Amino acid sequence: KKIIITIDGWSSCGKSTVAKELANALGYVYVDSGAMYRAITLYFLRNHIDWTHKKAVKEALENISLEFIYNPQSEKSEMYLNSENVEYVIRDLVIAEKVSEIAAIKEVREFAVAQQQKMGEKRGIVMDGRDIGTIVFPDAELKIFMTADNAVRVERRFQELYEKNPNITLEEVKNNLELRDYIDSNREISPLRKADNAIILDNTQLTPKEQFQKALKMAHE
Ligand code: C5P
Repeated sequence: KKIIITIDGWSSCGKSTVAKELANALGYVYVDSGAMYRAITLYFLRNHIDWTHKKAVKEALENISLEFIYNPQSEKSEMYLNSENVEYVIRDLVIAEKVSEIAAIKEVREFAVAQQQKMGEKRGIVMDGRDIGTIVFPDAELKIFMTADNAVRVERRFQELYEKNPNITLEEVKNNLELRDYIDSNREISPLRKADNAIILDNTQLTPKEQFQKALKMAHE
């Protein structure tokens, strides 16, 4: 029987790597919910949307179409915004600096959550994010809450971003992670928190392979 697996947790604690591998091993669909908030942020920035105004946000959302299309080369579904592949541009720090503010807007969350729930209708899905086990799929069969020490998370994210932009500093990355975690866990709507029945997976000391194996074992139990 196909189930729903949710993986929530702090920024850059390795959720997407585990989620993607788990989905591939089980023959499930992997959905990176954060990519949707990032794509919306990209649209808002490009089109100079004043997101402090409800009306502007509503109108903008009407013009946004989000889609995931599987790319066999990267072995993952990539994010498309109005038919444009934005999978790589949305990883930019410029987006990361604004995404938490935009993801805290009620209309934005309603827009994204409705689509996420639709993707789960057929089950057989692994979705990662911040509110997947609590709000999007409260009835999911397996809920994982991932954590890792701050220093480890900062270092991992720094390595990732540094490959693309050698001008980036550790300080910038650290500030961004702290700010996002703060906003994500203190916002009014759907704040980041562990679902009561979620299993904690602390990966500070684990290699990617060990993390995947632990998660796979949970899925088989
Ligand atoms: O997962 P990722 O770090 O790419 O997510 C980017 C941002 O999107 C998060 O910092 C958070 O503000 C927002 N997000 C959210 N709810 C989710 C997934 C992501 O609010 N389910």
